[in-house]
Amino acid sequence: MSGVQAQLGHALETHVFGRTQVLMGRNGGKFPYGNSVLVQGTEETILIDPSKSVKERIGELPHIDRVLLSHCHQDHVAGVHLFPDATVETHPLELDAIQSLEGLLALHGVPADEQAAFTDNVRTHFAFVPRPDAMAFVPESTIDLGRVRIDVLHTPGHTHGHCCFVVYGGGRQDEVVFLADIELSGFGPYYGGPNSCLEAFDRSLTRVRTLDHEWFATYHHLGVLQQPAFAERSAQYQGMIDTRERKLLRFLQTPRTLEAAVQHRIVYRASDTGAHTDRNERNMLRQHIARLLSRNLATEVEPGLYQAGT
Ligand SMILES: [Zn+2]
Repeated sequence: MSGVQAQLGHALETHVFGRTQVLMGRNGGKFPYGNSVLVQGTEETILIDPSKSVKERIGELPHIDRVLLSHCHQDHVAGVHLFPDATVETHPLELDAIQSLEGLLALHGVPADEQAAFTDNVRTHFAFVPRPDAMAFVPESTIDLGRVRIDVLHTPGHTHGHCCFVVYGGGRQDEVVFLADIELSGFGPYYGGPNSCLEAFDRSLTRVRTLDHEWFATYHHLGVLQQPAFAERSAQYQGMIDTRERKLLRFLQTPRTLEAAVQHRIVYRASDTGAHTDRNERNMLRQHIARLLSRNLATEVEPGLYQAGT
């Protein structure tokens, strides 16, 4: 589907678009793996979101001058330790999360009683090594690498500092939009973290859907898509926000609490159980209820009790 695909010893696919390569992760980039982007200019070489799978390619990669992070979730920073000499850059709001373990814990919203296990996990499975020297890039700026440039788009919602990157090579065939965790999955947008935002995600999706370039790449699952497939998938993906809202409104035909909706499951499936899923569901539904109230689609009939209609 893309320009060239290479099968190397590690059997990981590479999609090549001129000076840009999408380095597919193991299992098609399914979590905990991911798809990274390599951009080679005449002046500089940049690697975006080095995944756990980059380790398998380390011998074949060129010298990396700069590492850009779309955001600092554990799976996106798992290959940072492989490039101790590179400059590491992310959105100013997420700098803490790559500079220190405390910042990483805060970005993920890990409760106090789970911090020891989370810390052990990120060190063991994501090789997390803090980079106190990491710097903030300038959102909405352009990085010129020589014969290729990258536009940094601030697309908050998944996290507050989440960014997408538009890479311009020679012509349209070499233009690639890296969507990071705007995953375009059937699940729909994830805004269950402590600094996630439903409204911001919705606005970011409206924005990225206006982008007209040849290729789109996601960090997980889909890998590389052409514009028509992107248009279709992104419409479905954004539509999941309304699908969830309609489901919640049906559930609120009878007055219910947030906690009742969490236990019923609107975003996740009823079979998805556990404290972690409860927390994500709660964070997402709290925002949906606030949105319904602000749009006069639901009312708080008693403190903590919500009903569809006005
Ligand atoms: Zn993420």
